Amino acid sequence: MTARRIHIIGAGIAGLSAALAVTKEGGEVILYEAAPHPGGRCRTLHPAGGFSHDNGTHVLFTANRHALNLLKAVGARDRWIEPEPKGLPIHDMRAGTKRRIGLSPWSWLWPSRRPKGLGLADLSRIVRLAFPAQECSVASIICDRPIMDSLIGPLTVAVLNTPPNVASAKRLALALRRLLWPRSGRLLVAKNGLSEDLIQPVVATLKAHGVSILTGQRLRQLLTNDRRVIGLSLSPPSRDRTRRRSATPRRTANSPCGSSPNGPSASSCAVRAIHRTRIVSAKWRRARGGPRFSCRIRRT
Ligand SMILES: Cc1cc2nc3c(=O)[nH]c(=O)nc-3n(C[C@H](O)[C@H](O)[C@H](O)COP(=O)(O)OP(=O)(O)OC[C@H]3O[C@@H](n4cnc5c(N)ncnc54)[C@H](O)[C@@H]3O)c2cc1C
Repeated sequence: MTARRIHIIGAGIAGLSAALAVTKEGGEVILYEAAPHPGGRCRTLHPAGGFSHDNGTHVLFTANRHALNLLKAVGARDRWIEPEPKGLPIHDMRAGTKRRIGLSPWSWLWPSRRPKGLGLADLSRIVRLAFPAQECSVASIICDRPIMDSLIGPLTVAVLNTPPNVASAKRLALALRRLLWPRSGRLLVAKNGLSEDLIQPVVATLKAHGVSILTGQRLRQLLTNDRRVIGLSLSPPSRDRTRRRSATPRRTANSPCGSSPNGPSASSCAVRAIHRTRIVSAKWRRARGGPRFSCRIRRT
């Protein structure tokens, strides 16, 4: 890392994690977030008169070691608990039965924890699914076995958001193989909620490192000069006129960014000069050659 100051757009969990990675390397970070609060899709909702709940059913698999490492780094690992250590309780509405399913393939050695319909004949198909020899669809391996309906079909849609007849077996295998590691098939949930047990500890750690998180700042445009980014065109939410004015720094009027012929006028947005600094776009990408995810930082 050579840049002194890094600008990160978006304070979802990816942006917050990227900021943590940068501060670990000694860099200075400014985070810009369009919403009034950090967290992005990871947040707890507090409706007036209603009950507080997370945005969606957020669960964390222990196979996601990077997420666990993040929790450890911000001292929040013990806030995530395993509510169903004996397997996931499933209510089969069609059959009117209830049973528990083990989430780790190793737990299927116990008949009571096996997914419905899983028999000995399926084992070779599941091994082929975890280690496919060539590119093919998930359905071409599992065919019409009962576990397609009870396990593989829903799993494929959950992991790849694609139906099994067109979903890539090689892609699904990346997720399946991660579940083979000992204790990687445990399912964790936040004890008090996503905001309290994930976002707040990360934000507190970042603030302790001096990171600035500027909320209500939407990136509208990258201002460039000769293909080099020289400024960020930011605007707060349009309905908040007071904040829009106050978010425009005084120096904007004199900023070379503000007078850019391609950029929006200084009166319509806040423009920050960031000469001699760099901009980061952070994405969680699958690292080459394996089913691991890593935070990749692209500088412009
Ligand atoms: C209902 C639901 C259930 C889910 N359940 C799970 C689950 O069980 N387990 C799991 O692992 N994942 C789950 N997810 C997925 C998980 O929430 C997301 O993958 C994760 O939160 C994405 O984080 P992110 O930082 O990449 O993106 P986001 O959370 O979308 O963050 C992006 C941030 O960037 C900001 N932004 C965007 N554009 C601009 C701009 N121009 N200028 C400034 N800021 C900008 C946005 O306001 C936002 O805060 C679920 C998602 C939903 C919606």
